[in-house]
Amino acid sequence: MKNIIEVSNLVKKYGDFTAVDGISFDVYEGEIFGLLGPNGAGKTTTLEIMETLREKTSGEIRIDGFSLGKENNSIKGIIGVQLQSAGYYPNLRLSELIELFSGLYNVDTDPLEMLNLVDLKEKAGAKFKDLSGGQKQRFSICTTLINKPRIIFLDEPTTGLDPQARRNLWELVLKIRSEGTTVMLTTHYMDEAEYLCSRVGIIDKGKILTINTPEALIDELLKKGFTGKREQRLATLEDVFLNLTGHELRDE
Ligand code: ATP
Repeated sequence: MKNIIEVSNLVKKYGDFTAVDGISFDVYEGEIFGLLGPNGAGKTTTLEIMETLREKTSGEIRIDGFSLGKENNSIKGIIGVQLQSAGYYPNLRLSELIELFSGLYNVDTDPLEMLNLVDLKEKAGAKFKDLSGGQKQRFSICTTLINKPRIIFLDEPTTGLDPQARRNLWELVLKIRSEGTTVMLTTHYMDEAEYLCSRVGIIDKGKILTINTPEALIDELLKKGFTGKREQRLATLEDVFLNLTGHELRDE
């Protein structure tokens, strides 16, 4: 397994407050790596430092061998970053936005082909502000792919989506990974992490508590004699919801 990301002893301080407290982890090429943790744990800070959007206080990060802080332009060339939606000029159509971002990245793209990747070809003429929540998320993932990156970073990609849109996005992330792109994401949804992530790191108060595959972490807990609080049922409330409302997307 080749490491495509290596983080060692990363520290980020905001004044006196230590948001990221000496974390180290590697991400393997081609995997989906999830950073999990409660609100304020330091996930977004860590991700944005890796994306070259925030300065680290100390520590070392290598992305595909390039040293963060010294070779940021090379790093920017191989990563895909989700832009904040505030950056999506409200009066431009999706196809125009893709053209604009392609220009910024200095790459040639076919907007319709890009939109097709995320099932938004029919919305090429729509404005970002007129999209549904699921469509907005798919569009923001589309923008991460414009520069044909080797790694994409997704910060809470399914927050606020309904169950169908969430599952649809999971399939999109799996498709992107199956084409060879490494994915690093954050999420608060444990079912999402279990479904998508090859490995997860659990972070709390700026420190990494554990890193492993979801199966290994669950096995470790069970070996300690843990038994769930509730009787395990064969279906969940989400299954009821999906059974009643169907699996098909409703965000058109
Ligand atoms: P969430 O799950 O709520 O998105 P997170 O794990 O992504 O949380 P961060 O956004 O990285 O957490 O924030 C980590 C800590 O650093 C929080 O206590 C936050 O208040 C603090 N913090 C983040 N950005 C700044 C900033 N620019 N200035 C000061 N403190 C900050």
